[in-house]
Amino acid sequence: MKFAVLAGAFGRMESTSKRTELTAFLVDLLRETPPESVATITYLIQGKLRPDFEGVELGVAEKLAARAIAKSAGVPASAVADRFKSGGDLGDAAAGVLDSRAQTTFAAEEITVDRVYETLLRIARASGARSQEMKARYISSLLNDATPDEARYIVKLLLGTMRLGVAENTMLDALAISFAGGKEARPELERAYNVSSDLGRVASAAAAGGAEAARGFEIRMYSPVRPMLAERVRDPSGAEPRLGAEFAAEFKLDGERVQIHAGGERVAIFSRRLEDVASYYPDIIEMVPPRIGGREAILEAEAVAVNEETGAFLPFQELMHRRRKHGVAGAVTKYPVSVNLFDVLYVDGRSLLCEPYSARREILEGMVDADQRVRCVQAARTGGAGLDDLMEDAFNAGAEGLMLKKLDSTYQAGSRGSNWLKLKREYRDDLADSLDLVVVGAFFGRGRRTGMYGTLLLATNDAPTGTLTSVCKVGTGFTDADLDSLYQMLSPDARARRDRRVVSGMEADVWFDPSLVIEVAASEVTLSPTHKAGMDAVRKGYGFALRFPKFTGRIRDDKSPEQASTNEELEALYAGQNKAARA
Ligand code: AMP
Repeated sequence: MKFAVLAGAFGRMESTSKRTELTAFLVDLLRETPPESVATITYLIQGKLRPDFEGVELGVAEKLAARAIAKSAGVPASAVADRFKSGGDLGDAAAGVLDSRAQTTFAAEEITVDRVYETLLRIARASGARSQEMKARYISSLLNDATPDEARYIVKLLLGTMRLGVAENTMLDALAISFAGGKEARPELERAYNVSSDLGRVASAAAAGGAEAARGFEIRMYSPVRPMLAERVRDPSGAEPRLGAEFAAEFKLDGERVQIHAGGERVAIFSRRLEDVASYYPDIIEMVPPRIGGREAILEAEAVAVNEETGAFLPFQELMHRRRKHGVAGAVTKYPVSVNLFDVLYVDGRSLLCEPYSARREILEGMVDADQRVRCVQAARTGGAGLDDLMEDAFNAGAEGLMLKKLDSTYQAGSRGSNWLKLKREYRDDLADSLDLVVVGAFFGRGRRTGMYGTLLLATNDAPTGTLTSVCKVGTGFTDADLDSLYQMLSPDARARRDRRVVSGMEADVWFDPSLVIEVAASEVTLSPTHKAGMDAVRKGYGFALRFPKFTGRIRDDKSPEQASTNEELEALYAGQNKAARA
C-alpha cells in the first residue's frame, strides 16, 4: 500500500472533529487497506508503532529531525527553524521546505506504508553509541523519497505529534463497520481489545476473520488485560442497592495498581495505564513467584510503600521514589514495597475472567503462601450495617477507604461498572470529593507567581465523545515547589492553540497537549454556563463546574487523560449532593 494513500487519509481526518465523519474516513481507509497491513495502519493512526505495553518509543528529538529535514530539502537548518517557529509544527515545516525543493529531486522512489513502518521500527530499535547518526540516516532515507505531504506525517509520527483525535471507541466502531458486519459487532471487538490491550492485533484478526475471530480472543500471559474499575459511592447506604445484602469489603490501599504476569519464563509487571513497569520493581519480580508456588498466573495487586520494621503502610508519595530510571537498586532498599494481591485473572492455562468474584478470591487465597511483603488484601464479607466499623479498621490500618465488591460479579475488563464501588474517607466528611482532572490550559501568574502558570484550566473526560471538557480553573493548593515543577512539566507541551479534543468556553493564555492528570478537591459541583463538562445534562445551556477547587498535591501520573474523571461521575456527584442537601 502506498504511503501517499495513508497521508491523504490523515489529512482528511485532521480536517474534521466530527466523530461520524472521522469514522467514515476510517472505514474508507480500512476497506482500502490490504489485510496484512491493517494492524500497521491501526497503530500509525494512533501515532504508535506497537501497543503501549511493549514500550516501543521512537526517541527522536526535534533537533535531530530538523537537521535531517534540512539535509533532505537542501536548505540551511535556519530555514527549517524559521518555519517551525512561525507554524509551531515540525511536520508542517518539513512539508513547507520540501515543497520548495520539489522540482530538483530526480526519480524519487515511491514509498510504501510498509517501508515507512519498518524504517520507524528500526529507528526505535537503534541503540548504542552510533544510534543518533543511524537514526538521522534512516530519517533522511525516507524524506529523500517523500512528497511534502508524506514528509509532514512521517515527521509527526517520528516526533509523536500526530493528533488525529481518533479515540479508541471511534477506532472500534470503524473496525466493526469495516470488517465485522456493522456497529452491532462492536462489543465483540471491544471484548477482544479489553483482554489483549492491543488494538492492532484486534484489527488484524477482524480483517481476517470478522467478529468470529474477535470472539476467539483469550487472555494470555504477558499481554495485559485492561483493568476493571470502580465507581465511587458517597456513603455506605449507596452500597446495598447495587451489591445486594451481602458483599465483600476490601481495604482500599493507596499505592500503585500493578498487574503481575508471573510465569516460569519471566515476570512482567504492568501499570494501570498498561505500561511495562517491571524495571522499577525488581523486588516484586523476585518476591512473587515463590509465594505462588511457581505457578503461571496473572495477578492484580496494589503495590504500597511500607515501613520495613513495622510493616505499616506509607503514603503514596513514598512509593513515587521508586519511579526512576537510575539508582533503582538503592531505591529498592530505601523504599521497600509490599504486594497486596486483590485479584487473580488467570492461572495455569485457565482464564478466570468469567468466574465470580467469590471464586476468584478463593482461588487467590488458596494459591498464596503469604508473608509480610506478599499477601492478599484484607477482605471481609459484610452487609451495609457492618461498613462503618470496617471503615474505621481500614483507616487505622493506613488504608484510604474500602473497595466494595459484588460477590457474583465476573471480572469486567476495561470497564467502570457498579460491581466494584469505592468508598473513601472524604465522602463521609462533607460534600467535598476529589476528582482526577486533565490539565488542558493555563493562565500566567502574577506577583510571586510571575513567569509561572498561576492558574490551570482543568477538564473532565467526556468518554462517549472522546473530548475533554473544561470544568474549572484551579489556583489554590499549590506550594511554590509545585508551581515550579508543574511549569517544568507543562511548558514543553505548551501550544498557542487549543488541542482539538478540548472543549471550553474559556480562552487560556496557553494550551497544552493533554497528558497531565492532577487530583483536585472541591466543595461542591455547581452548574455553569462557561464550562462544558456535562453540557445540557441537568439544565440546557449549562455544564458542570467545581466550587472552591483545590489541588490536593497529588499528580496522577498513573492516569492518562482517558482515565480522568468522567462527566458521568460528575453527574452522579451532583445528583448525590442534591439528594443529601434535601435529606
Ligand atoms: P481510583 O484510583 O480512586 O479510581 O481507585 C481505584 C484504584 O484503587 C485501583 O485502580 C487500585 O489501584 C486501587 N485499589 C486499592 N485497593 C484495592 C482493592 N482492594 N481492590 C481494587 N483496587 C484497589
